[in-house]
Amino acid sequence: MIYLDNAATTPLCKQALQEYEKFSCENFFNPSATYIQAVKVAMLLDEARARLKKCLGAKKGDIIFTSGATESNNLAVRGGAREGKWQYVFSSGEHASVNNLAHALQKEGKEVVFVPLQKSGEIDYDFLQKVLTVKTRIVSIMFVNNVTGVINDISRISKLVRRYAPSALLHVDGVQAFKKLKFNLDELDVDLFSISGHKFHAPKGVGALYVKNKAVLKNLVFGGGQEYGIRSGTENVPAIMAMVAAAEAIDEEKNFEHVQKLKNLFLSQFDDCAGVKIVGENASPYITMLLFDGVNGETLTRALEDYVIVGRGSACSAKKAGNHVLEAMGFTLNQIKGAIRVSFDASLTEKDVLQAASIIKDTYQNLLEKLK
Ligand code: PMP
Repeated sequence: MIYLDNAATTPLCKQALQEYEKFSCENFFNPSATYIQAVKVAMLLDEARARLKKCLGAKKGDIIFTSGATESNNLAVRGGAREGKWQYVFSSGEHASVNNLAHALQKEGKEVVFVPLQKSGEIDYDFLQKVLTVKTRIVSIMFVNNVTGVINDISRISKLVRRYAPSALLHVDGVQAFKKLKFNLDELDVDLFSISGHKFHAPKGVGALYVKNKAVLKNLVFGGGQEYGIRSGTENVPAIMAMVAAAEAIDEEKNFEHVQKLKNLFLSQFDDCAGVKIVGENASPYITMLLFDGVNGETLTRALEDYVIVGRGSACSAKKAGNHVLEAMGFTLNQIKGAIRVSFDASLTEKDVLQAASIIKDTYQNLLEKLK
């Protein structure tokens, strides 16, 4: 079985597993306790914040550990929101954890603007420039789209936000970019940045929110005041330490080249395959979205599952009909029906992707034959 749904989740790496075990069985103390063993864990936790900041390329700012990117995204947007007549700006391609929150804010009576996507899958930068005002409080736009792999130009977005919306906080969902693309958070100049451990070989249920200035964030839960009072609750130390170890174990520059080669090789196998369309320009090498004409993507996924595991777009909304990201790019519901997301990992080989492409092509042809 060849696993090509790495954008949904990844297996744990050995460095993460070792750290998880160490901080579960030996160094298991509660970092909020006052005896020396616990104080040592608290110190290691603070070191882990600094280590993660280094991985993000951030000299300023703080790290708030969370239960994953869904929480980080909610904390960034709700925690950064303010009473009064402020405007909130989102892209039309955000992950459900931002998109559904944007709709909830709208229902609560807040002014919410959705920035459309261009046909290429990137946000419409001109539209963004036009809607930004001095009343904009939050701009939340993802780095790499989890459905198409399309990369938004965060530097360009941050320049627009600083120029046209001086009171705004720029939040970036960086889940599919962290440890995959090379970037530097200080240079990108963002206020808030979300990451999720299980997308880069760390455990599930752990993530982080980077915040440039933590004074801008309100807490959403009340409790013992952990994580600077912004996110109370005993820290999941084993998962946090595992996440940081997993991040440090990845050389994103080296992986990038290898994965780009794998993706190109994989896609070249579909050059002669009628009825298959590749979605998105300027996409991450880690994700590719393919539209198969005349078959249902769900049927294709199920027909493949004993041999090749692929996704449908977003694991979190895979069961829902249609797909808001592909719709925002202008694809018809009929086209979206045949959507398959293939997402790669650096551990894959050229042989793996060639074999997977051949199986996918054969399975597609067989399904088409059956439907005749
Ligand atoms: N944002 C993006 C872009 C994602 O791909 C995901 C995971 N599907 C999330 C947020 C949610 O992350 P988590 O599973 O850690 O809640």
